Amino acid sequence: MEKELQYIFGPVNSSRIGRSLGVDVIPKKICSLDCIYCEVGTTRNLSTQIKPYFKAEGILAEFSSVYHEIKNSIDVITITGSGEPTLNSCLKEILIGIRDIVKDEKNIAILTNTTTLDNKDIYKTLLDFDIVVPSLDAVTKTAFEKINKPAKEININNIINHLIAFSNEYTGKLYLEVLLAKNVNDQKEDIDTLISVIKKINYTRLDIGTITRPPSYSFAKPLTDQELDDIKSYIASNGVSFIKDNTVDDNSNNTVISYHKQSSISNNDNDTDLIIRKLMPLLKMRPTTIDDIIKTLKIDKDVVQEVLTPFIQSGEVTSKEFNGILYYQHKIIKQV
Ligand code: SF4
Repeated sequence: MEKELQYIFGPVNSSRIGRSLGVDVIPKKICSLDCIYCEVGTTRNLSTQIKPYFKAEGILAEFSSVYHEIKNSIDVITITGSGEPTLNSCLKEILIGIRDIVKDEKNIAILTNTTTLDNKDIYKTLLDFDIVVPSLDAVTKTAFEKINKPAKEININNIINHLIAFSNEYTGKLYLEVLLAKNVNDQKEDIDTLISVIKKINYTRLDIGTITRPPSYSFAKPLTDQELDDIKSYIASNGVSFIKDNTVDDNSNNTVISYHKQSSISNNDNDTDLIIRKLMPLLKMRPTTIDDIIKTLKIDKDVVQEVLTPFIQSGEVTSKEFNGILYYQHKIIKQV
């Protein structure tokens, strides 16, 4: 059997950034936050330490081999991780290496939780991305600690100040993400303070969403569609635009994708080894439905079930229901 991909996943369809090939630059699960809604599982190493967790060399070698196979079917490269990607001190080297491989053919995006923007090197490296997707779920200390459970040295005001400064200097596309959890960061005072900060951020697009997949903490609950719509209307009525750039499509219904990992490589045959090689990274990244697998791997439902069954029987893959939908995930995703 061919080796499972370690760093590269996708392409994933994103209504905001197009068909995206993902690059995972951080091991599961090292993060400066332990967000209660995280799809990657609970944070095992809650840390702000910046280190060469994965070396650029291995990532670039794997990227190069996959990219040349599928470059005609993707629009964008997305740097992300099973944790916070900016904690990898090789980020700049990885960005330069990927640019060198893709030339000017593709945009390069990064997802970040913004907690490292006070690091001058990371700040400068992020300026060089074509698309930056920062998340900011709460702006008061109390709500921030409830929803994002940060490492103790992280100060929310520091994050806000650096994000505002960055947004005013950055010349690429900045897609600001806010994720709301019921009775955690969705109260009127949370939204009012959030609005006051959002107004100072120079974003291209604002996406407000809620929990859509099994969260790392079972007490984390989504808002209903109506509650989410009401909050979006309230935000808009307070003078906040969701789109500030006419070149950006508004076809995502303002739903936060909130993926830090989504995985698949298009597959047009039913070779079992090949499917497993692509399926396992997907199930290790986040809870995934059968429909997700069918769409991303382009295989029949019967084939998905045939391939999954032995892994379910052995306990390597488990299932979980959330909001009436059945998800499958690898046992390495830890939820509490
Ligand atoms: S959602 Fe992102 S920032 Fe939050 S804990 Fe998960 S990986 Fe870290």
